[in-house]
Amino acid sequence: MGKKRPSPYKTAQGQFDLAADLLHLEQPARQLLRTPLREFQFSIPVRMDHGGIQVFRGFRVQHNDARGPGKGGVRFQRAATLDSVRAQAMWMTWKCAVADIPLGGSMGGFQADPRNLSAPEQERLCRGWVRQLAKNLGPWVDVPYPDLMTNAQHMIWMLDEYETIYGRKYPGFIMGKPVSLGGSQGRIEATGFGVVITIREALRVLGLDIHQTSASVQGFGNVGQYAVQLYQQMGGTVTAIATWNQEDRTAYTFRKASGVKLEELKAITNAYGEVHKHKAQDLGYQLLPGEAWLEQPVDILIPAALEQQISRSKVEAISSQVKLIAEGANGPTTPRASGFLQARGVHIIPDLLANAGGVISSYFEQVQSNQNYAWKKGDILGELDVKMAAAYYDVSDFAAATQLDMRTAAIVMAVSRVVDACRERGWL
Ligand code: NAD
Repeated sequence: MGKKRPSPYKTAQGQFDLAADLLHLEQPARQLLRTPLREFQFSIPVRMDHGGIQVFRGFRVQHNDARGPGKGGVRFQRAATLDSVRAQAMWMTWKCAVADIPLGGSMGGFQADPRNLSAPEQERLCRGWVRQLAKNLGPWVDVPYPDLMTNAQHMIWMLDEYETIYGRKYPGFIMGKPVSLGGSQGRIEATGFGVVITIREALRVLGLDIHQTSASVQGFGNVGQYAVQLYQQMGGTVTAIATWNQEDRTAYTFRKASGVKLEELKAITNAYGEVHKHKAQDLGYQLLPGEAWLEQPVDILIPAALEQQISRSKVEAISSQVKLIAEGANGPTTPRASGFLQARGVHIIPDLLANAGGVISSYFEQVQSNQNYAWKKGDILGELDVKMAAAYYDVSDFAAATQLDMRTAAIVMAVSRVVDACRERGWL
């Protein structure tokens, strides 16, 4: 039997404990932040298409809202547990604090798989979730947005239910809306572009000219595609991209030493970010095993697919040319691998920082919705650049001042910002 992985909540609490030790936090601060402020778990009875009732479990966890209203995803996940939702909510508190946006951390979802539900059943489930929580959500309380397997349609059903309950319009109740109904321009680009803005700043600090650099990317979905786009626009060369293949559902690395051409690869990629391998070969791409993206002689690795892709056993396979890893995905590098890579001098931009563009753009949508005024795309992307670059220097300056690595610095800085807000409010 393999070793059981620690629950994400235990992992999140362990990370918090480390930050609390480094900050010499007193016991009440540890008690307040180690567990969520509020937790809701409830049953949602749903009338199914065949006429019977099925009861689903729903969750919402509000970890901490000292810095502002909660913000966090709502996901369909059959294996969702209160503990997994608690962990995500805690990470959201830290992510908002790293990005220095005035929001707290929440998370929620349903124990359900939308692939087994008709659209009307999904609608009734979404509306039921809002009915259970309406008193504890809202633009100035806690704001949901799409996460695993939820999309703009689910958000609109939820918005409509909330507005029906209260009898007035609350565009700031939920994020991830379609642009035609109060959603924000720039949302789709934000996470991938944000990753590259942090890469640009890291290269500046490392004294490297982006035009002379090359990168290898895992994942060619939302984050991967826009990261490749901006990096190449800035003058870098992407030589390899790993994705699932459409035909046999296996991961491959698609390599072109002269540089991947974004538009030609997008033309043979489906909506799930899966590339058609035979068409790629016809376009001159070399087909390598799924893990080969890690072994490329490049300056930058961008994991933008899944968690735990760079583990201790893979470290030796990573080229000595690699100077930078920018974590587009959540948790792609295990803590042990991180330690070894940092000892080798690799600069890691941690997920809390590198992929914060998503939550920053969601915050921009919230501000626009609450003002009922839409900003221009160029202004939004410009503001994203300012906020991401500022967050990069906040973390790297803090790391330099405290002699901590970037990952530890990001979480310690975040915890310290949240503790300050709790103190200012008189909670501590
Ligand atoms: P996505 O579903 O759009 O794309 C995922 C990509 O990864 C696809 O190209 C898929 O083929 C590829 N992939 C999956 N498994 C793979 C494997 N074993 N080997 C190679 N390629 C593989 O997802 P996304 O929205 O781009 O998110 C990617 C990661 O970024 C996730 O960890 C997500 O949690 C994180 N993230 C996303 C956002 C966002 O705004 N989309 C924000 C923060 C963090």
